[in-house]
Amino acid sequence: MKIKIGLGYDIHRLSKGRGLYLGGVKISHRSGLLGHSDGDCLVHALIDALLGAAGEPDIGRLFPDTDPKYKGIRSTALLIDVVSRLRSRGRRVLNADVVVVAQVPKLASYMEAMKDSLCPLLGVGHDDLGIKAKTNEGLGLIGREKAIACWAVVLVEEKAGRKV
Ligand SMILES: [Zn+2]
Repeated sequence: MKIKIGLGYDIHRLSKGRGLYLGGVKISHRSGLLGHSDGDCLVHALIDALLGAAGEPDIGRLFPDTDPKYKGIRSTALLIDVVSRLRSRGRRVLNADVVVVAQVPKLASYMEAMKDSLCPLLGVGHDDLGIKAKTNEGLGLIGREKAIACWAVVLVEEKAGRKV
């Protein structure tokens, strides 16, 4: 058995009039994240961490933003696809840890809902998924409420004897 680590990062611009989705949860706010999909940068960072641990191409290569099939798609649907790809290759998620950097809105009250949404998709318990929200102390584009960024790390277990 092999344990592998993966790291993911994503940032999206905030735009007035868009719905805000983070961690698979709709969040009440005056602006949302721009993107070909629902713009959920937390889920995108998680996906890239999972793909990284598995040595697979990143989210942009797997789900190109030029493909109309993915226009407006919920990012959780992409996460389900990625986790099932991993499973079909004998891999499973052990745990994940995420940092969301958002000046606004306050996300503390959404943490449990995000876990309720993501843990079943990852196949982990609530104590195997960490989600932390931070502001950017008013600094830079994130501090000026122009964008939200996310970092994610995951551990993936790979069964021995996997066929390459
Ligand atoms: Zn993204």
